[in-house]
Amino acid sequence: MHTGDLPLDEFERHASRLAAWIRSTLEHPERVSVLSRAKPGDIRALLPARAPQQGESMDAILADLDRVVMPGVTHWNHPGFLAYFANTASVPGILGELVTAALNQVGILWRTGPAAAEIEQVACDWLRDALGFPAGWFGMITDTASISTMYALAAARERDPALAIRQRGMAGRSDLPRLRVYCSEHAHSSVDKACIALGLGLENVIRVATDESYRLRPEMLARVIAADRSQGFRPLAVVATAGTTSTTSVDPIAAIAQLCARESLWLHVDAAYGGAMGLLPEARELFAGIEQADSVVVNAHKWLFTPMDCSVLWTKHPRVFRRTFALTPSYLETTDGEQALNFSDYGVQLGRRFRALKLWFVMRAFGVEGMAARVREHVRLAQVVAGWVTATPEWELCAPTPMSVVCFRHMPPGVTDESELEAHNALILEKVNASGEVFLSHTKLGQRYVLRIAIGNLRTEERHLARAWELLGEAAG
Ligand code: PLP
Repeated sequence: MHTGDLPLDEFERHASRLAAWIRSTLEHPERVSVLSRAKPGDIRALLPARAPQQGESMDAILADLDRVVMPGVTHWNHPGFLAYFANTASVPGILGELVTAALNQVGILWRTGPAAAEIEQVACDWLRDALGFPAGWFGMITDTASISTMYALAAARERDPALAIRQRGMAGRSDLPRLRVYCSEHAHSSVDKACIALGLGLENVIRVATDESYRLRPEMLARVIAADRSQGFRPLAVVATAGTTSTTSVDPIAAIAQLCARESLWLHVDAAYGGAMGLLPEARELFAGIEQADSVVVNAHKWLFTPMDCSVLWTKHPRVFRRTFALTPSYLETTDGEQALNFSDYGVQLGRRFRALKLWFVMRAFGVEGMAARVREHVRLAQVVAGWVTATPEWELCAPTPMSVVCFRHMPPGVTDESELEAHNALILEKVNASGEVFLSHTKLGQRYVLRIAIGNLRTEERHLARAWELLGEAAG
């Protein structure tokens, strides 16, 4: 019986076996279906109901990777993964995760992980500069954009000390007007979730109409803010999106920022996916005005080749974040001094993972120019796919393609009814995904049901897209 950890010889033996196994999964993606073929309950059915009473060998455990785990894996690393926002566990990212687990830093305070705290600062600064964001913005890493946006809105609420919400809460206060948060009708649902979690309430998330390119209309925003003020609401923050989930449209940040400045509203920019485009100097015009934002989130775990999870949140108001979240019980007091940054003062989590390591590995291994070249290639590939769509009769390009996502649908001659078109395209999607070679997703643009090809995986090449296009043609009949 083991009384302690496994012997380190075993660690080394299994780690090298696992490295070979990982290599094989990355090298031969065609052997597996990109979308798992598991049905709900299939994987559980392969597992005993109770944990083993006696320890099992690592050989037995690792054998179950192929038997139990792999049938239930949807392969986000597969070059045919073209759904949602594709991402990549790159080699430096995977190695970073391994070291993060091994070093097991629990960043509750600077002194419990000085390297984690300082590499996080450096990685956030490097990425900020690489994306062309203003020098001086303070960066921190969270798990997801959903949490980053929630933190940003929590800080927005705390900026005005007169609201005193940190201390007094929101419930039962006749002195507190209802606070409003604005975003476009195409903003991600994480804005709503943040408002649920913060007690702002879904009714107070106001979704503003977009233009024909799915960008928030600033004049409509001005109108709803004015209407809210006249009815006694207190406008709090605007979330602009730079790269919406459906089409990667970018809200007109400069105009929104101007309005926010005039109305004293916090401007948070959700660039969870699109922020990566900042690597391309030629594309930065898309984000004009972003320097005026109060906070911005970009997910390294989306288009920046870093494995799940790693979301970077920058703000020009770190002191407001501290005011929102810092709380130091006596057992966490230290004499480490001003320079010792405790990231736990800037968010909810006390113990924090060493997420920065994998981002730092990725940035060093690829270099800023290397990362930019990879993103640029995806943008080029998206233009190639958009070209195929527009050049082929019966296919319709359904939105502009400013980044690496193409929205399109099949229009059989004579069919104009939206629900018929939806059923037809949903069937195409089902057939294509059943191939196991590629995995696409869909969205709704108004009444239109459209298919999406999202190119963001490092391993996706033009030939994979050509195959996806061929499968789509076959499925459309
Ligand atoms: N914001 C946008 C624009 C997104 O597309 C997504 C997810 O796809 C999110 C936020 C949420 O990201 P996360 O899964 O990191 O919370």
